[in-house]
Amino acid sequence: MPMEHGPDKALRHRLEEVMAEARHNERKLRRFQALELNLIGLGSLFELIQAVIYPDPDTSHWDIVTLLLIDPEYEIQRILEEEDVKLLDHPALIFASSGDGLDALHPYSLFPMLGPYQLNRHAALFPLPRRPASVALLPMVRNGKLIGSLNIGSYTRERFVKGVRTDILEHFAAVVAICLENAANLERLKRQGLTDTLTAINNRRFFDQRLNEETAAAQRNKWPLSCMLLDVDHFKKVNDSYGHQIGDQVLREVAAVIRSQLRGGDVLSRYGGEEFSALLAQTGAEGAAEVAERVRKNVAEHRFTLSGGEQFGVTISIGIATYNPEHDPSAAKMNGDILIGHSDRALYDAKAAGRNQVISAGDVSAAEPEAW
Ligand code: GH3
Ligand code: MG
Ligand code: MG
Repeated sequence: MPMEHGPDKALRHRLEEVMAEARHNERKLRRFQALELNLIGLGSLFELIQAVIYPDPDTSHWDIVTLLLIDPEYEIQRILEEEDVKLLDHPALIFASSGDGLDALHPYSLFPMLGPYQLNRHAALFPLPRRPASVALLPMVRNGKLIGSLNIGSYTRERFVKGVRTDILEHFAAVVAICLENAANLERLKRQGLTDTLTAINNRRFFDQRLNEETAAAQRNKWPLSCMLLDVDHFKKVNDSYGHQIGDQVLREVAAVIRSQLRGGDVLSRYGGEEFSALLAQTGAEGAAEVAERVRKNVAEHRFTLSGGEQFGVTISIGIATYNPEHDPSAAKMNGDILIGHSDRALYDAKAAGRNQVISAGDVSAAEPEAW
């Protein structure tokens, strides 16, 4: 073997360093792959969340992990509560009702943010007794939308610093985001059916089917069909003041009050969030406006009682549109979407006019609504 000269030795040393780093990265990659495979194989949403926020210390080298999920309609929280998960027992799982606060943390929304822990910016993401020294915030994005943030904290200040490679972390966050979405979709599917599980009235899927059937029936039989959209006023305030469980209770009671004012054959559904829809077959614009006014009044007079005895009320706004095939030369073109579009427009006007009121678009035609 030839003598090693200085430069050769330096080269060999450098080579060994590179090899060691490659082996280190390889081990790291394998660890992440194992972690990701484990996540992909998990069954329920909560199992998945637990695997993320309580990683196995043998395979994960993280000091703190928290998960923030954007859950505007409390859907995920409700799924977990139905599984008897006590959310208070899991401070590392954080919910936000919108991504607004996150925009500040993820200004470019798609890229991880690494750096020192800053109390004023990061306190809400690490609500645990011991604070990290450095953090990696990984935005989770699905279909171009921010769905949450996976937050890793280290007690070492040098652990997460700007400029280090983040491709493995990005990949991991993407896998977590996909797994979360899949698990949530599966839960949705289980609950889908044709009934809304919260309010026990029909759901949107049922409504969409009936809307088309009823429009066709009205056309065939030349009878009027009225369509109502009812939206709780300032409902966000109810959630903000009393919590979403009281909000849910309010939705259940509002649904029951509306139902009590309709005929048996009228189709009442939860159209989405805090919005309901009703189809009144063989009912013209005038009759529908009378029913709507009665519904509005009954909801406004209804009292909700908190467990401490305190009472409060809510109001609703209602938009109505009527399809009257006898009055409309363009009736053959009428369909459910057009009718709903007119109702929505009337509801928008009722909100703009100050809420707690009924606005009817009267008999509408397939040619409208004009742009608004
Ligand atoms: P507006 O009078 O303009 O309708 O105001 P709003 O606050 O009712 O309307 P906005 O659309 O701003 O807010 C609706 C809120 O309803 C936001 C969402 O968090 C809440 N929400 C939607 N679905 C549910 C639910 O199933 N349960 C609870 N508790 N809240 C819900
Ligand atoms: Mg509302
Ligand atoms: Mg609404």
